[in-house]
Amino acid sequence: MTDTEKTFCGGCMCGAVRYEAAGEPVSVIYCHCESCRRHTGAPVSALAGFSRDNVRFTKGERKLYASSEGVGRGFCADCGTTLTWEGDGEELGPLVEIHMGTLDDPGALTPSCHVRHDERISWFDTAGKLPRYREWEVEEGPYRSDPAG
Ligand SMILES: [Zn+2]
Ligand SMILES: [Zn+2]
Repeated sequence: MTDTEKTFCGGCMCGAVRYEAAGEPVSVIYCHCESCRRHTGAPVSALAGFSRDNVRFTKGERKLYASSEGVGRGFCADCGTTLTWEGDGEELGPLVEIHMGTLDDPGALTPSCHVRHDERISWFDTAGKLPRYREWEVEEGPYRSDPAG
């Protein structure tokens, strides 16, 4: 970590767990998958992904729930705040994705697309023209690029 790198700080609702992510995120997305939905209780998640080495927990310990092989979902054991998705980001390498609602300045980063859009709740959509990917696979191309229809 160098002085010139940006840092993104955040933490849980009760303040027991705090984190700091350095540098530029490798992905900033909306995820509509069922696992994120259940982990948060929210219709969609906004996640900022950082290389694992660039994220450190500066206060307290998050608890990790193993939601599938090699994937941990971090949360505060005291207040229940959903904090992270942690696992292998394939071509992006080992990742910690931060649930953006836990950032001190959530407006500092803007999602660039929707992933797992196929799993979205039928009554839910977001405004805007960001590309919508059926899964995560960007090479497949967006299957919808506007929210209508
Ligand atoms: Zn907490
Ligand atoms: Zn997800």
